[in-house]
Amino acid sequence: MKNMTKTACIIGSGIGGMAVAIRLAAKGYKVKVFEKNDMPGGRISQAEENGFRFDTGPTKLYMPEMLDELFVLHNKNPRNYFNYHRAESSGLYFFPDGTQINAWCNAEKLADEISNKTSVPKHKVYQYLHKCQKLWELASPLFLYSPLYLCKNFLKAPCRKALLQFYRLDIFTSLDKRNRKLFLDSKVVEIFNSAASSFGNNPYKSVATIKYVSHLNYNLGVYHVQNGMYSIVKALYDLAIEAGVTFYFDSPITRVFQSNKRIVSINTATNAYFADLLVIDTDVVHFYRDLMQDKKMAKKAMKKKLTSSAIIFYWGLSKKIEGLNFYNIIVSGDSKKQFDTLFKNKAIDSDPSIYINDISGLSGNNNPEGYQYLQVMVSVPAKHGHNWKKVTEEIKNIVLSKIEKTFGENISKNILFEQVATPLTYTNIYNTHNGSLFGQAINSFRSFFTKHPNFISRETENLYFTGSSVHPGGGIHHCLASAKIIATEAN
Ligand SMILES: Cc1cc2nc3c(=O)[nH]c(=O)nc-3n(C[C@H](O)[C@H](O)[C@H](O)COP(=O)(O)OP(=O)(O)OC[C@H]3O[C@@H](n4cnc5c(N)ncnc54)[C@H](O)[C@@H]3O)c2cc1C
Repeated sequence: MKNMTKTACIIGSGIGGMAVAIRLAAKGYKVKVFEKNDMPGGRISQAEENGFRFDTGPTKLYMPEMLDELFVLHNKNPRNYFNYHRAESSGLYFFPDGTQINAWCNAEKLADEISNKTSVPKHKVYQYLHKCQKLWELASPLFLYSPLYLCKNFLKAPCRKALLQFYRLDIFTSLDKRNRKLFLDSKVVEIFNSAASSFGNNPYKSVATIKYVSHLNYNLGVYHVQNGMYSIVKALYDLAIEAGVTFYFDSPITRVFQSNKRIVSINTATNAYFADLLVIDTDVVHFYRDLMQDKKMAKKAMKKKLTSSAIIFYWGLSKKIEGLNFYNIIVSGDSKKQFDTLFKNKAIDSDPSIYINDISGLSGNNNPEGYQYLQVMVSVPAKHGHNWKKVTEEIKNIVLSKIEKTFGENISKNILFEQVATPLTYTNIYNTHNGSLFGQAINSFRSFFTKHPNFISRETENLYFTGSSVHPGGGIHHCLASAKIIATEAN
């Protein structure tokens, strides 16, 4: 039954916050979204300067049907708002010995490519992807669609099945060990290890359960959004406005007050707002430390191990690098050392893998013709204390020399447009703890179960959490899942 009287306030207009807003509006709530910045979308953002436009956040969309669902809830046709198509490849890998392997988003083509370029036969690739699919079917009802901490959920059939078949979740070894055991070829291991690294995790520590991401990459597929990723935000914003949601931009929340196990008000610098229900889409560390000023909970949240951050260059080039796919990875010469440096030593590796997204072909960019548009990313630790200005210079030199070595092009004089994001960008602009791109790391099986819950009704009845820093974690599809869990539980 629709509830016309209750007000839901949401702090943050990231993808999780917007999805909850749309879902609660469909349930009849009066919804108010408070956003510190002047535009919605959080980490799904864009940069515009001198006629150049860049998506600055995610480039891979998984499970787009989870976005479509939000439109259907309001009896709207999602295709009137935004569109997407399946990407051909999830990455063209450039290995140090000159081998190139295209990781096609298609099991058959991927198996062909791998068997042609390595010693791994086709049937091994099929077997692996089949196992990843089975694992996904078993694990996703438990890890993606359920609030793990509710006992009643463990009694539901899909969760019971996952728990009874615990051994099939592949929790007793790391992703790297599992892949190394199955494939005797280090290049193939590197490709399938990206199930962890592409979400900011360490494949040498992440449990093998995370190999389900390969099912998303190569069976379900990666999707490109027509007119760029920011079109998702524009589409959700339009839908939310039509559904009656009110947005308050340039409105950072400065304090949240609780009384008798209920949130009673949230404050901006100038106003107090009263909420029947409050949803947090900001990083939980920011929420507990700054908004609640709850030292104990902040300390607990800060103890969680984080996924990596990144330095990203957004370049408009007057010279084209030939041979680039949409997604490209120049692979490190020593993968293990790279991840040890990143996660164990929290330092900057001298030979990191380099991720280059050539977004020139993306329609809707309206960028001047004849240029090449690249997002070039290197993972760095989610940590403050580095001199990021100096590190950025060092990394830029590494990137330029690796590009020259791999493609024979010196592009240093051809960078006509440049913007750079560092861990400080993610902290200062989005209040993300230590600049982590995806929130808490999955470095043990336990970490699946120890993510911050989506609600804590025993402590605070009307408080809910969505987004990257809570269950089920970072990534657009995960944030959309947390929004769905909240809307199901909220009444
Ligand atoms: C460079 C990069 C690449 C990525 N690549 C991918 C990818 O390819 N595929 C994928 O699925 N995911 C990817 N991700 C992850 C994905 O973008 C995030 O997991 C997701 O967008 C986070 O959404 P969220 O709901 O947690 O909110 P956020 O995006 O974190 O937004 C939170 C919002 O809250 C606002 N806020 C914070 N504090 C306050 C306050 N006090 N008052 C008011 N507002 C406040 C912030 O300004 C922000 O707008 C990537 C992320 C980054 C940064």
